[in-house]
Amino acid sequence: MLNVEVNDKGHLLIGGADTVKLAEDYDTPLYVIDEKRIRENYQRLHKAFTRYYPNFQILYACKANTNLTVLRILEDEGSGIDAVSPGEIYMALLSGFKPEKILYTGNNLRDDEILFATESGVMINIDSKSQLLRLSKITDPENVKISFRINPMVGAGHHEHCITGGELSKFGIREDEAIKVYKLAQELGFQPIGIHAHIGSGILDPEPFMLAVEKLMDIAGKVSKATKIDFKFIDFGGGLGIPYHPSEKPLDIKEFAEKITSLFMEKLDEHSLGEPAMYLEPGRYIVGDAACLLTRVNTIKESYRKFAGVDAGFNTLVRPVMYGSYHHIIVANRANEKPVEKIDIAGNLCESGDLFARDRKLPELREGDILAILDAGAYAFSMSSQYNSRPRPAEILVKDGEAEIIREREDFSDLISKQVIPPRLLK
Ligand SMILES: *Cc1c(COP(=O)(O)O)cnc(C)c1O
Repeated sequence: MLNVEVNDKGHLLIGGADTVKLAEDYDTPLYVIDEKRIRENYQRLHKAFTRYYPNFQILYACKANTNLTVLRILEDEGSGIDAVSPGEIYMALLSGFKPEKILYTGNNLRDDEILFATESGVMINIDSKSQLLRLSKITDPENVKISFRINPMVGAGHHEHCITGGELSKFGIREDEAIKVYKLAQELGFQPIGIHAHIGSGILDPEPFMLAVEKLMDIAGKVSKATKIDFKFIDFGGGLGIPYHPSEKPLDIKEFAEKITSLFMEKLDEHSLGEPAMYLEPGRYIVGDAACLLTRVNTIKESYRKFAGVDAGFNTLVRPVMYGSYHHIIVANRANEKPVEKIDIAGNLCESGDLFARDRKLPELREGDILAILDAGAYAFSMSSQYNSRPRPAEILVKDGEAEIIREREDFSDLISKQVIPPRLLK
């Protein structure tokens, strides 16, 4: 989202809508989601891959953003879903996704969660032998479509917590046990249809991804040879990064697609794997740069450092605090002004770590300014909380300059929802 549009008043636009007006109309903090950007991101990726390999399917990793309207837009584009919990399966089905286009990659599942997935008719991506054995006990193997998540011993990501392949990862099945689990599945009466790996998140360099593709293809080859399984899909997971910092370069998606598909087809040939579908599971790439968080400066404070205090906190966007992530910030009401000072942007929670930025170069801030924290479409609302008893912000969708509310702002009643005080403690 780093190439932003500004109108003649110097106001930042998103999806053609004036962010300053949106802040006035809907109040702050406010998540603003650009429909066109979501569609463009989806189509760019889809086009890049289908050009080289038509049997290609995107499974949107909906943990990035599960707003029902976002899900509707992606269902409309033809996406499938990568779901990681029963709740995500529920939301995807509610938004109109067909169960056969949903792949459930849970980890450390309870039996009732496995059962919920099989009864919903979604495909299940198995993360451990334990899960396979329990699945076989509670379902009819002939009616469940399964795949296995393999740890290809390649990991990558923007933060240690986001690396999901390699020795330290809790995810997936050891590659040297892959043949064993597929054989076991067959003995139990299943007919596995896929193989999967997801190595991490926020990857801007194609190399580790290529390495994982190569490893997974070789594993798929060995499994297929040993078990005669005819894979219907090979799923390379998600993790495609976006540039959060102006110095970062976006992934060249055409080149990325060309490299991945040619290696994929070479390996299909080498291992006689036929023509399975290729799946990718992008979350961040689809929605990350399609939204910003608007927040208003309410306090300018010179303490030992200079702070601009805003009306949002890490309960609305935890990435800076949790991963040390950079999010670009624009003064939405004076978007053309040059940076002149370094300032800390502090949230409104009672935690000294509650900062959106340290030493950020910005125009001289004033109380009342609207800040747009960019790239807040992925892992922003979906990781939000009511910490400090702060009701969560509203979400709006913009398209061609028009805005529609897609999630109401929470109020105090949401803070007490579902709470029960034992009557003996009531006065
Ligand atoms: C989180 C996740 C993804 C998506 O990751 P992004 O970095 O948002 O693309 C894909 N697949 C699985 C299994 C995941 O857990």
